[in-house]
Formats: sequence, C-alpha cells, structure tokens
Amino acid sequence: MTSPAYDPNNIFAKILRNEIPSVRLYEDEHTLAFMDVMPQSPGHLLVIPKEGSRNLLDADPAVLARTMPVVQKLAVAAKEALDADGVLVTQFNEPTAGQTVFHLHFHVIPRYEGVPLRP
Ligand code: ADP
Repeated sequence: MTSPAYDPNNIFAKILRNEIPSVRLYEDEHTLAFMDVMPQSPGHLLVIPKEGSRNLLDADPAVLARTMPVVQKLAVAAKEALDADGVLVTQFNEPTAGQTVFHLHFHVIPRYEGVPLRP
C-alpha cells in the first residue's frame, strides 16, 4: 500500500517555518533539533531534516546521510550534558507503527538507570 503524500501543514513543518514555537537546540542548513513537548525522559529531543519527507520510507538517502551525523552528535551531547546512562534513538513510520507527526523525525531519548520511560 502506498503512503499518503507529504503534508506541508504538519506540526513540524510549522515549527520549521516558525509558525509555532519550539525550544531549538541545534540548527544548520539542512537540519533542526528541538525539545519534544511531551518528553518520555528528561532531555528527550527530536531531530528533523528541513526537507519535507513523511518518514523514513519516502526519505531521500542523501537527506538521511546529512541527518544521521546530527542525531549522533546530539545523542552524544545529551548523554554527556545530562549524565545519562544511555540514549534511545527511535523513529516511527506510519500510524500502525506509532507515528503521529508526519514529517520525518528521530527521537533522541536519554535513559537513566532505574528510571522508566514516561508513557
Ligand atoms: P509518537 O507520538 O507515538 O511518539 P511520533 O514518532 O510521530 O509518534 O512522535 C511525535 C512526537 O512529537 C511526540 O513525541 C510528541 O510529543 C512530539 N510533539 C508533538 N507536537 C510537538 C510540538 N509542538 N513540539 C515538540 N514536540 C512535539
């Protein structure tokens, strides 16, 4: 089954256009990172490419190649800055897999020994 087309009115596209607020952590020509509004763990952040893809399934590999080093950089930085014990990186594709915002994004979720994720 083919996926619906990318919708430029999704909430992360609005964040990119500064139409709604966000707590921005990192930005370059191709990528933006900001805090998740409902963190599953202290320091939960999101990394998104500026180019509009619905999710990993329709993303240009060149976009992924630019995005993943930022995911890595922020995972390392969050672990060190927050003294986390580990970092969970997740990414969901389509509603059945848990996706609720339809602009490609990577969750970077610091984990702390003995601290469960918030639902
Ligand atoms: P899920 O909602 O199941 O985690 P996604 O992978 O699509 O599925 O994640 C969307 C994420 O976007 C959620 O973690 C949610 O808290 C976050 N979010 C939704 N709206 C905003 C917003 N305005 N600013 C920051 N994060 C947001």
